[in-house]
Amino acid sequence: MSLTEADRALIEVAAAAIRQRYRNDWQEVGAALVTRTGKIFAGVNLDAYLGRMAVCAEGVALGQMITELGEAGIESIVAVRHPKPHETDRDVHVVSPCGACRELIYDYDPGARVLVPSPDGVVAVGIAELLPNKYSRERNL
Ligand SMILES: [Zn+2]
Repeated sequence: MSLTEADRALIEVAAAAIRQRYRNDWQEVGAALVTRTGKIFAGVNLDAYLGRMAVCAEGVALGQMITELGEAGIESIVAVRHPKPHETDRDVHVVSPCGACRELIYDYDPGARVLVPSPDGVVAVGIAELLPNKYSRERNL
């Protein structure tokens, strides 16, 4: 699925968030989501001295949504990575959500669109495509 103008605007919101808060080894990823009611939330990752305490940018953006609106559904979500100081490519690029974030996004909206990198550039895919055969308490096989 190719990107819309709204998708490109959402990528820019995520990029602006991490450009503003980038801190080497601590804040390197930004995320933005648009709810099914059209409201946009952004977040940056929270790295930690103990790596297992880290929180992804998508989770922070989702937490902003839940705090302000409650369950509003996720129309689309994207994460972007800021380059480290030594990297020659200074652009912010779209990255795929990690496995834990795929679970989280699916749980809050199984119909969410996710903007991900592909050989053809950034494309939109359904979260279910990124998490086939997700764990479920239901017997659905
Ligand atoms: Zn993640």
